[in-house]
Amino acid sequence: MGYCVAIVLAAGRGKRMGQAVPKQFLEIDGKPIIYYSLKQMEESFIDEIILVTGEDDVSYCQKEIVEKYGFRKVHHVIAGGKERYHSVYNGLKAAECCDYVFIHDGARPFINEEILKRNLEMVEKCDACVTGMPVKDTIKVSDENNFVAQTPHRNLLWQIQTPQTFRYDIVKNAYDSLFEVLSLGELKCEVTDDAMVVEQFGSQKVKLVEGDYRNIKLTTPEDMILAEAFLKNLQN
Ligand code: C5P
Repeated sequence: MGYCVAIVLAAGRGKRMGQAVPKQFLEIDGKPIIYYSLKQMEESFIDEIILVTGEDDVSYCQKEIVEKYGFRKVHHVIAGGKERYHSVYNGLKAAECCDYVFIHDGARPFINEEILKRNLEMVEKCDACVTGMPVKDTIKVSDENNFVAQTPHRNLLWQIQTPQTFRYDIVKNAYDSLFEVLSLGELKCEVTDDAMVVEQFGSQKVKLVEGDYRNIKLTTPEDMILAEAFLKNLQN
């Protein structure tokens, strides 16, 4: 097994949650949301964790999360950037020479050992994989006037989660290329996940790995109600 680094992202402002505190630091059952994914990583085969947070939150995270809960695998707490992809790139630069990198949204507390293991098995085979689940609803693509432009076949559609897991050199090279294009002001689309960076700038095909319908990203206030319910269910 290669050396595995997890980049846990917690540098977002979480504006859609409508709270003054960034969403990853809101509490469920008395612990900050970010605690839960760090705990899963700490207790797994992951060798090292890089926690990426807001510039002003680095010392809070170090003291109130890493030290308080004794996360020994968190070797670096670093500042992220304006967009998610800036935060990821900072994490990748801090990771250096590892074999595999697991990029995970800190706002997804319900990652579990099985998802991590499935990612590891797949990345060892295919070099690049992302967690997701088949969609339950019909998905439509609209035009700019909200008329339906297309209805893709549902059996081919997946909703994408994290972790997104790559051989380090593949994802680092793809992000280097992304930032080159960005510096030239030539980026044509919004970057919303890591797989699309590898799809666009790498030659590697990205494989889908089964996640869990509970592995939600806490984004809006109603997600907090779901999170409390999932947590209670896990504890019983
Ligand atoms: O904003 P969104 O919900 O897509 O964020 C997904 C994850 O990326 C969250 O865990 C958030 O903290 C992180 N993020 C980040 N840096 C940013 C924006 C988002 O680390 N600039």
